[in-house]
Amino acid sequence: MPRYEYRCRPCGSTFELNRPMAESSAPAVCPEGHEDTVKLLSAVAVGGSASAPAPAPGGGGGCCGGGCCG
Ligand SMILES: [Zn+2]
Repeated sequence: MPRYEYRCRPCGSTFELNRPMAESSAPAVCPEGHEDTVKLLSAVAVGGSASAPAPAPGGGGGCCGGGCCG
């Protein structure tokens, strides 16, 4: 389920909600109970898996650092 970020204007704070895409434009109520919120355009993970292949930190050897280049 995609996650959406909202900003509460009375609070001035942001909060996140996990909701179906069909309800992405529905009004969101902040944890404090305010209804004057706006949806932020943040990175939304669509597809379920949020595990993107990230390069291993450190080393700096790139591909050849692991000996995969033969
Ligand atoms: Zn609020």
